[in-house]
Amino acid sequence: MEKAKLLYEGKAKKLYEVVGEPDKLIAEFKDDLTAFNAQKKSQEEGKGILNNEISTILFQELEKNGVETHFISKLSDREMLVKRVDIIPIEVVIRNVATGSLSKRLGIPNGKKLPFTLVEFYYKKDELNDPIITDEHALILELVKDVSELDTLRELGKKVNSILVPYFDAIGLRLIDFKLEFGRTSDGNIILADEVSPDSCRFWDKETNEKLDKDRFREGIGGVKVAYEQVRDRILGRV
Ligand code: UDP
Repeated sequence: MEKAKLLYEGKAKKLYEVVGEPDKLIAEFKDDLTAFNAQKKSQEEGKGILNNEISTILFQELEKNGVETHFISKLSDREMLVKRVDIIPIEVVIRNVATGSLSKRLGIPNGKKLPFTLVEFYYKKDELNDPIITDEHALILELVKDVSELDTLRELGKKVNSILVPYFDAIGLRLIDFKLEFGRTSDGNIILADEVSPDSCRFWDKETNEKLDKDRFREGIGGVKVAYEQVRDRILGRV
């Protein structure tokens, strides 16, 4: 697999075209850390390697359980081969426990378990600070073709949640909430894309509620890399 031109550089990944493979891309995971719409920026050496490793295992786990993802194979410590998709500019946030922007916006106590799995849509648009949107907003903005596509996003989000909650529970982690991005393949299927990692998920230790995710960076607690390593090691059954 030979990298061709850089197609896109995001906050945490670079996407390259692949020589002779128009339907595939190479995702390269960077060490950059950003929060608050990139107002806070830093680097954590080795973070990209950890997220590539963690995302690889989680995509494989999801595929095993019937969720189609863009993952094809892990190419190197920082690189993953993926199916080329058109990203739907909606951040699908799935929540089991109130925290972060949900607690802030609605005054729900931080850490309160929600009575059911909540799925929210945010418009992926940096200039607007990724605002939360309703189904009707998504239709007016033409982010999807029709409401059935929004139902598909909701169903896929809940399916991913129903696979990952017990998976993490078994390794002593509470999956508090997470963000997914989906894309359309050339044949029109909606599949899971982007990444599933401590950059995009909140994990709290089951015993201590210690945060083992990007909130350590957002809140300036430190120990970001050690926390990501902890997630990786638990996934690998090392601890
Ligand atoms: N999230 C993300 N990227 C974003 C916004 C949120 O990966 O641009 C994830 C975040 O890590 C958390 C979940 O989505 O797991 C819900 O985040 P929330 O809306 O509470 O946002 P925040 O508190 O980070 O502003």
